[in-house]
Amino acid sequence: MAHPIIHEHVPLARYATLGLGGPARFFVECASDDDIREGITFARREDLPILVLGGGSNIVVADEGFPGVVLHQTSRGIEFTSHGHRCSVRVAGGEVWDRVVEACVQQSLGGLECLSGIPGTAGATPVQNVGAYGQEVADTITAVHAINLRTLDTVSFTARDCGFRYRWSRFKGPDAGRYIITSMELDLPVTSLAMIRYPELARTIAQEVPPGSGEGQVATLVRARETVLRLRATKGMVLDPADPNSRSVGSFFMNPVMDGTVFAAVQAQWRSAGHASAIPSFATSEGVKIPAAWLVEHAGFKKGLRRGGVGVSSKHALALVNYDGSTRELLALAEEIRAGVSSAFGVELVMEPVVI
Ligand SMILES: Cc1cc2nc3c(=O)[nH]c(=O)nc-3n(C[C@H](O)[C@H](O)[C@H](O)COP(=O)(O)OP(=O)(O)OC[C@H]3O[C@@H](n4cnc5c(N)ncnc54)[C@H](O)[C@@H]3O)c2cc1C
Repeated sequence: MAHPIIHEHVPLARYATLGLGGPARFFVECASDDDIREGITFARREDLPILVLGGGSNIVVADEGFPGVVLHQTSRGIEFTSHGHRCSVRVAGGEVWDRVVEACVQQSLGGLECLSGIPGTAGATPVQNVGAYGQEVADTITAVHAINLRTLDTVSFTARDCGFRYRWSRFKGPDAGRYIITSMELDLPVTSLAMIRYPELARTIAQEVPPGSGEGQVATLVRARETVLRLRATKGMVLDPADPNSRSVGSFFMNPVMDGTVFAAVQAQWRSAGHASAIPSFATSEGVKIPAAWLVEHAGFKKGLRRGGVGVSSKHALALVNYDGSTRELLALAEEIRAGVSSAFGVELVMEPVVI
């Protein structure tokens, strides 16, 4: 059996979409479950903490780096098993997520097309139940397979076991740092059409298609994917070396969700401060959701704002961008925004990425 190479003092900025973060003491490329187990055994022997790393698109790494063992998940593979009108898709944890979406759209499998362009690996998608444009990965997952970092056992979870909520699962909550997700299974319908639930996406598609085509609320999977990718690019939300706004982790804060009475109080505070406009909100199964980007902008943090080497994206108020700064600067700006929103609205923003 070939052993994985264990590298030392590897700059994590290279592996993080923010381009920030000091070195990892040890760094192991894990292309298989055996590599993962060897990496864990090595970390145990050295008595060092473990960090599981995928595409680095949702982590903020300290300038000092990580004093333990990074397990970089690089296993690849997408397998399709057809069951008549449905298809089960098994995906390796290190597979590039957007390749999974592209392959499913090409195979006329619905349910992932609105998740086009989200950076990172497939194995990380259950961690925060990635979502965009009206779809969440939790809608399609039937099983998540993982290795327990303490016992080395292989464990399988049903979707229900995963405890999915908005940008949340057990892997981000009580079991954070306990498992490495090695593969997952999705169940998708065979179809060439997408139901479009997200108003901005439906509007954009309706404007672009020939009149009378019937597309808008319904679109081909291919059109839905292409439109999502285009919309995301206008917001700096696809990785693009030519777009400095994409040196981010996407949305830095989650959209706050609260019950109706709390929302009424937030609205009343805003109005009593002399504002005529209403705070935008959406009813969801978990409560009333307020767009965090709106709160950030209306608390005075405009697109394009700079603080030293970091700033707010000029295309999206929720993305914090590294130009040539440091993690310390980025977290100071995040704290400034959090405090500003808290004082303007009485709403506490919660960070979306994981701080290492
Ligand atoms: C430009 C941009 C746009 C984005 N848009 C969206 C969006 O629309 N919607 C959305 O939900 N997110 C979005 N994100 C955030 C991010 O892409 C997702 O959260 C993605 O799933 C992270 O994957 P990753 O492989 O990069 O994870 P990493 O950043 O490497 O890791 C994130 C966390 O997951 C853990 N983790 C990673 N892999 C595994 C694994 N195999 N097993 C267990 N734990 C693991 C890590 O330890 C860490 O805690 C965006 C990010 C960027 C940069």
